Amino acid sequence: PSYTSVSDLSNMTSIKIEKLIRDLTKMGFTNVTHNYILSREYVELVLSSYNYKVEDQTSSLTPETVYEELRSSVNPKNLKKRPPIVTIMGHVDHGKTTILDYLRNSTIVSNEHGGITQHIGAFQVKTPISKRTITFLDTPGHAAFLKMRERGATITDIVILVISAEDSLMPQTLEALKHARNSGNQMVVAITKIDRFSNPKQREAAIEKVNLDMMNHEIPIERIGGDVQVVPISARTGENMELLEESIVLLSDVMDLKAESGPQTTLEGYILESEMKKTTGNVSTILVTKGELRKGKVLICGNTYCKVRSIKNENGQDVSKATPAQAVEITGWKDLPGAGDEVIEAKNEATAKKYVAKRLAVIQTARESENVDRLNEQRATKAL
Ligand code: GDP
Ligand code: MG
Repeated sequence: PSYTSVSDLSNMTSIKIEKLIRDLTKMGFTNVTHNYILSREYVELVLSSYNYKVEDQTSSLTPETVYEELRSSVNPKNLKKRPPIVTIMGHVDHGKTTILDYLRNSTIVSNEHGGITQHIGAFQVKTPISKRTITFLDTPGHAAFLKMRERGATITDIVILVISAEDSLMPQTLEALKHARNSGNQMVVAITKIDRFSNPKQREAAIEKVNLDMMNHEIPIERIGGDVQVVPISARTGENMELLEESIVLLSDVMDLKAESGPQTTLEGYILESEMKKTTGNVSTILVTKGELRKGKVLICGNTYCKVRSIKNENGQDVSKATPAQAVEITGWKDLPGAGDEVIEAKNEATAKKYVAKRLAVIQTARESENVDRLNEQRATKAL
């Protein structure tokens, strides 16, 4: 049982009930009687104080830690360079969506359905000059990100802070700045909408004002010896967009971003989006952070699992695999996984089922012990 009364415990252990009550009171429990209920963790605590071995370890697990032992042990030999994962932040209307649209349109691969790009929350570009890959996440305000942030998980490496040359720093710019600092993300600043100034002098003055405002807010831009690159751009005309992409490549090289990948590494990732489609059933976008995603692999997420049936890239094309920092759409989930939830690979379906059942048991136990606490509180109140 996941909870036990003091008399049950006495029967189980043949420790005298009077002794149990005395010892429990010494340990700090109040109003202890023979029908006082102990949650599983307290039963373990009491038993360990009598040097009883507790053979069942599940109670120390939380829903978040159940799958820990599925992770492969760290092996630096499998580390490989990976693309940077980038989000765009900044004040409303300063041009975030326009930048993403520009980048996405510059890399659309036409497919058999006529080149319509799917919206899967993330896409990759190949940079025009250095021919390197960058992953852009286009849903930073999305529920999935809020959930990840709550858990202290950051999947983003670099934030592009967008500041309009017309407005300079605004309240949400400062919020984005604070977020970038707290999350430990590196930053590149894009001063946008420079095409709005046809007069070169006015354009220079506007850019200069943004620079001065950034210095006043202690943004360590390169001009004052810091490492934050500043790139004036127009997402409308495309001016300096290549330069912005190359700035990200440069920064990612300094950051030396790597992930364990290849068939030896257990796959890990995050669900970015998840939806039930009439045609294909449960579909989700998964961002791979470790390992190698392939058809037929078994993945666990929350209380559900998936035998990967299909993998599609952001252009809707079937692909045979996905590697770290790549986001793809997969099908095969038994139930819909939650956006922002972590994904981990299991050896096979039997293992996946076993672990999902274990997680459900842990959740059940946690609920029961909450009930026990409430019950004892009520009894204590009655006793007064
Ligand atoms: P968001 O709220 O940050 O996503 O901003 P949007 O990308 O939606 O842009 C807000 C408005 O500014 C839209 O009307 C865009 O067309 C316009 N805009 C964005 N970037 C530029 C730019 O570089 N130049 C010009 N002239 N307009 C821009
Ligand atoms: Mg927008």
